[in-house]
Amino acid sequence: MIRALDIYKNFGHLKVLKGVSLTVEKGEVVAIIGPSGSGKSTFLRCLNRLETIDKGMIEVEGEIMVQNGPDGKAVYSDENRIALIRRKMGMVFQNFNLFPHKSVLENLILAPMLVNKVPREEAEKKALELLEKVGLKKKANNYPFELSGGQQQRVAIARALAMNPDIMCFDEPTSALDPELTGEVLKVMKDLALEHMTMIVVTHEIGFAREVANRVIFMDNGIIVEEGIAKEVIDNPKNERTREFLSKVL
Ligand code: ATP
Ligand code: MG
Repeated sequence: MIRALDIYKNFGHLKVLKGVSLTVEKGEVVAIIGPSGSGKSTFLRCLNRLETIDKGMIEVEGEIMVQNGPDGKAVYSDENRIALIRRKMGMVFQNFNLFPHKSVLENLILAPMLVNKVPREEAEKKALELLEKVGLKKKANNYPFELSGGQQQRVAIARALAMNPDIMCFDEPTSALDPELTGEVLKVMKDLALEHMTMIVVTHEIGFAREVANRVIFMDNGIIVEEGIAKEVIDNPKNERTREFLSKVL
């Protein structure tokens, strides 16, 4: 479970997050949609402390990562605790970010071996299971440049899963892909959702959000404008801005 309360984030004078709160329960799939520049990626990055927040509270699996101090400004927990918390979260980005000079298998075993001290044999066994799961066991010894974009993204998902995360965060995982490769990545994500992985997915794939997410969050201009059951928000948005956005993307 992840809880973010009243998150504020500025880049210089630019107010990017203006009091965003979100709780994601265990096993829940939440899709975040909204126009370009509304703060979706920033919010996701703040959850994982790829960005620091100015104000607010973030708690992951019962551990406080950051909370407001007496002066109302965010105070982060110590680095060890943050490192532990960050390991609970898997991140998948738009542009795959695989290690280019490592084979697919090596991409999957590096962090478990180095960070979690898993023995090589065990890490490889788990990696092959995960590659099987994303349909890429045959590519274990290939290098990222030998794979299609969709295959690379499935490796990136498998790599995140290799760390046994409690929560998976996705930032537009299919937006760099051709339409015919998008489906195979969405399928892997749907399978994860069916296994009750806790997921936060920033996406422009409204059909996916409607079908797979339990809840949809519509962000605009640094705030959550509307949220609710995925099908209800998408089929019957209550807010004018949500309606306008959906009419443009659907
Ligand atoms: P998109 O759908 O295009 O990915 P988004 O909703 O993910 O958009 P963000 O990437 O969170 O939007 O950006 C929100 C705002 O913050 C934008 O105005 C962006 O220019 C700004 N911003 C993001 N990262 C930085 C940064 N590192 N430094 C300065 N400004 C930033
Ligand atoms: Mg973004």
